[in-house]
Amino acid sequence: MLINLSDIFEEEGRSVSREVPLELEEIDFQGERFPIVEKTPVALTLVNDGSGRARIEAVSDVSLGMKCDRCLKDVTKRLSLHASVEAVSPDKADAQEAEDQSGFMEGYQLNVDSLIGSELFTCWPAKVLCREDCKGLCRVCGKDLNEGECGCDTFVPDPRMAAIMDIFRENKEV
Ligand SMILES: [Zn+2]
Ligand SMILES: [Zn+2]
Repeated sequence: MLINLSDIFEEEGRSVSREVPLELEEIDFQGERFPIVEKTPVALTLVNDGSGRARIEAVSDVSLGMKCDRCLKDVTKRLSLHASVEAVSPDKADAQEAEDQSGFMEGYQLNVDSLIGSELFTCWPAKVLCREDCKGLCRVCGKDLNEGECGCDTFVPDPRMAAIMDIFRENKEV
């Protein structure tokens, strides 16, 4: 959603708080697509910060559909986002300022979805687990070990040891 900031840039002391919908429905991260399964409206605070300048605060809770790093089960990860940036009116911004705000400003308009999107990247979870002690999948048969042991032998012995283990196993079967 685009919000025109002209009046915020112009009117000294002006401050506006409003809620706007988050239109973003999915996000690309490192070549993967993640759906946004739940989101709150974006609480926007726009404050004139001197001639031609605006301080922008945007707060939203976003839940992403992700997969557990260990067992690949669907996990909903809720992130509390709080973006805080400054924008300069395009007619007053120098080259550096224009570059800095190019990710969320389109002329005089704030792109709320771009701002929240880049905040999502900053808060991206380093690790996603369905639960802290997720046991993951068996490397041999792929069974979800949270649902019980599969009985696979995941121990890979030294070949010389393997021969001895075979003898041991044969003896056991008798
Ligand atoms: Zn898991
Ligand atoms: Zn297994």
